[in-house]
Amino acid sequence: MRVSRFAPSPTGRLHLGHAYSAVLGRRADRWLLRIEDLDPGRSRPEFVGGIMEDLAWLGLEHDGPTLVQSQRTALYAAALKQLRAESLVYPCFCTRADIAASLTAPHGDAGSGYPGTCRGLADDPERRAATPHSWRLDGGKAIARAGLPVWQEADGTSFASAPDQIGDAVLARKDAPSSYHLACVVDDAATGVTLVVRGADLRPSTSVQRLLQVLLGLPEPTYLHHPLVMHADGRRLAKRDQAPTLAAMRVAGIDGRELAEKLRTGLLPYGFRLAEA
Ligand code: GLU
Repeated sequence: MRVSRFAPSPTGRLHLGHAYSAVLGRRADRWLLRIEDLDPGRSRPEFVGGIMEDLAWLGLEHDGPTLVQSQRTALYAAALKQLRAESLVYPCFCTRADIAASLTAPHGDAGSGYPGTCRGLADDPERRAATPHSWRLDGGKAIARAGLPVWQEADGTSFASAPDQIGDAVLARKDAPSSYHLACVVDDAATGVTLVVRGADLRPSTSVQRLLQVLLGLPEPTYLHHPLVMHADGRRLAKRDQAPTLAAMRVAGIDGRELAEKLRTGLLPYGFRLAEA
């Protein structure tokens, strides 16, 4: 039995790209809904209502209860503790400005996106107690332990990730008890997800997440990275673009169920197309 899930972040209204992902996911035997609301600065309760409305309009019903990540933080904390016990994470005190400044300095690690400033600092519980910090994966150590992550796509191809896609990913944030990566692998495992359907833009996240699954001893799902939906002229759909939200399409009188039916057969509305893979 294939179990998939739709895991939107309630940070804006859904657009056509979300609808495409949802329709592909719904082809699984079970299709779960998870609200990824761990970003306190950007998540809004009214967008959770919007997600429900949009899915109902598309005629897509999910199976089982809706999981809400902000109610599950103890699980993510336990996973982080497991990684801490194995010295695979370290506290990072850098501010965004620190990171930006050190990336332009000559000795930053190219590619990782984080120059490793706090990696290798001696543990200082007093500093940790007094200073807001995030927790980062020690990417080099993690790869040495678990090997470079590989994953299987639903069409049978397999992908190996490059270490520079992983870097020292943040697993818990100063302002949020878990990052997207950690919460995602914990929840996919907890809910028995066997098929992760997501846009091709999330491939680098899949590298980090496969590595976390190996480190945490979690089962390996299959992945379907689908091409992104774009405007016909090649522009990406962005949440800040008002026009192609599903809400706007509904107001314009489009029939959501018909739209879902078309998406299922790979047909996009006029003015949109799929990006080349
Ligand atoms: N919450 C993430 C998003 O809306 C995606 C999740 C995923 O499929 O893992 O982009």
